[in-house]
Amino acid sequence: MIYYDTHAHYNDEKFNGIVEKTLNDCMSVGVKYINNIGYNLESSRCAVELSNEYKECYAVIGIHPSDVGKCTVDEIEELYKNFNNGKIVAIGEIGLDYYWVKDNKEEQKKLFIEQIELANKLKLPIVVHSRDASLDTYLILKEHPAKYGTLLHCFSPTEDLVRLVIENNYTVAFGGNITYNRAKSFQKYMDMLPASQIVIETDAPYLPPVPLRGTINTSKNLPIILEKLAEYKHMDVDELSKIVYRNSLEFFNIKE
Ligand SMILES: [Zn+2]
Repeated sequence: MIYYDTHAHYNDEKFNGIVEKTLNDCMSVGVKYINNIGYNLESSRCAVELSNEYKECYAVIGIHPSDVGKCTVDEIEELYKNFNNGKIVAIGEIGLDYYWVKDNKEEQKKLFIEQIELANKLKLPIVVHSRDASLDTYLILKEHPAKYGTLLHCFSPTEDLVRLVIENNYTVAFGGNITYNRAKSFQKYMDMLPASQIVIETDAPYLPPVPLRGTINTSKNLPIILEKLAEYKHMDVDELSKIVYRNSLEFFNIKE
């Protein structure tokens, strides 16, 4: 089987000194491509460097809502212009996070909108992080559509978001979160979401799937996530693996 990890952070300090070994391990189970996702200027730059160094790595650059105020959208644009190696495939992770910080909602919204505009200008899709903020995420995406594709990462379905995804043909990514107990409530939404709009991710080093909670997550765990997804979608694992892999290439505009 062949896998595309659409969301990982080998630019995280937890992987300092072990990136090469970890990536080799992942390739050995069939992982073919990995997106490293930035969350501020430094991690975005590191994602680009990894994409220079490893042929299987692509970069997504942007400012996470928790890093609001730490760098500017102009700096991200500058990074793109100075270091574009043809492997920067999206702007992300951008969005809203009301779980960790609730007192700067307006700044978060402004930063989110500015980065959607940057993505439109650079003709790139966006990778969205939304936590405890589904209604505001819904409203912003409706009013400020990303013209080159929208992917909702670590997707936690709600009535509003699933409607938005289906109506606008967005893509959603499931990771370790679908192996957690509370994911049982996802079933009715899983039935509504077409497989053609789903990809998989790990969010490595975070969110390891059950039964590996408490360990450092890596792309090697994608088979566990895919298997769980196949269970929810009542589909054959092999067939689903081909579909989500193809969806990933299409979404990030990667020509094999
Ligand atoms: Zn992430």
